[in-house]
Amino acid sequence: MSRPRYSALRYFIVALLMAGLWVVVLAFAGGLRPAGAPLSEHRRDLVDPRHPYDSLLRLAQAADKAFDRELWRRESGWSMDRAATAQDIAWQIAEEDLGLPGRMPDTITWADYGKDRNSVAGRYTWGDEVSLNVRYRDDPTWKHLPWLGVLIHEMVHAQGVYNETRTEILTWEVEAAMAQLDYPGARLDLLRSLRGDALIAAWWMAAYQKTSLLSDTETHRYCGSGQCPAPTGDTSHVDAVRRDLLDPVEWRRTEKRMRWWLYSSGDDYSSVIEVYVARVLGTLIPAACSVDPVVADASVAAVVVRGVPMSLPIPLPAFRVDDMAAVLEEIGGCS
Ligand SMILES: [Zn+2]
Repeated sequence: MSRPRYSALRYFIVALLMAGLWVVVLAFAGGLRPAGAPLSEHRRDLVDPRHPYDSLLRLAQAADKAFDRELWRRESGWSMDRAATAQDIAWQIAEEDLGLPGRMPDTITWADYGKDRNSVAGRYTWGDEVSLNVRYRDDPTWKHLPWLGVLIHEMVHAQGVYNETRTEILTWEVEAAMAQLDYPGARLDLLRSLRGDALIAAWWMAAYQKTSLLSDTETHRYCGSGQCPAPTGDTSHVDAVRRDLLDPVEWRRTEKRMRWWLYSSGDDYSSVIEVYVARVLGTLIPAACSVDPVVADASVAAVVVRGVPMSLPIPLPAFRVDDMAAVLEEIGGCS
């Protein structure tokens, strides 16, 4: 299971590769406020049907503003001690009161993912091993990128949660909790990821002409050459906002990553975004922006026990995304 993160920003590097008996995180670029909470219900009437992604763009702008204010703390950086950070994450997961143990995996390593080195940010394997892409340590083009969110994602897998959408939702809440506690690097990573994911979700809606972040359609991660659905929608409005919010370096990196996903990866970029971003934000944000910030749809949580995936999903209890709600309220992200 891994986590892909695109926005050159939050590294979407999360992918569940059941066939290979591992779970990875992909590095890709990553709408929101469709079904769910009362507030979104109320606001749906206000959505411009030509731009159903407008709330995502507003969220990205709010996150960007807060991100810029946070940048001065970049120097404090983040720890490179994987094991110590993972232990802190484990404790935070346990605190979320989900019935997840907050256990540590057997090993936490850096790994060279070979042909997947460009797309996978981190991975959890059935051998109970969490790894992070060694490029975070060694590659000049990755070195400055934060991997806290990636490690949280893999640590959630290590608790036995394998569904990628649910894993991402939990990852957001755990990172928000760490951000509220001022854990080094957490807030900067969270805001950057939020901006990036909101932008990529808006782009996805425009490019693939989606009117909602949530749907029941099946997703197919892999597709043969020429068979992946092409993005044919008009993305000019979203792209203008993306250009405005991203600095030139981020823009170039993000555009390159998107080209890679679309034309080189062999994956269905639309499905990857849907699983790792669209459904995640579509579930999380309406809940976090409601009066009672509870994510109650537990049906997507699948559990693996001692390395064996259970055939039936075992639901997690409904849980409060109160820390994500606090972050969004503070940055004005629910408007
Ligand atoms: Zn994953």
